[in-house]
Amino acid sequence: MVNDGFIGFQIDIFTITLIMLLILFAISTILNVMQQRTKPVREKVNTYTVISCVNNDHEERREFVPGDYVGKVIANKSCPKCESELYIKTIYSEKIREKP
Ligand SMILES: [Zn+2]
Repeated sequence: MVNDGFIGFQIDIFTITLIMLLILFAISTILNVMQQRTKPVREKVNTYTVISCVNNDHEERREFVPGDYVGKVIANKSCPKCESELYIKTIYSEKIREKP
């Protein structure tokens, strides 16, 4: 019966170790999941400027450049269709989701 007790003790240690490992594994898994959940979704905001011809026959979009404002006349460019002045019609932002 002494042997039984010894084996029982061994099993207990083994079981405890196994349970502890399982708990540690569970905790690390939960932490990982929580980290992934709290990780903010990467969002990039792109700002665009829409340039339009004063005669409304041409429109193009480019990245926003500091100094752009609605109504601003583009000095170094003219309409490719009628060679009239181009002005900034709209400025808008777009959210772009980046893959982590
Ligand atoms: Zn034009």
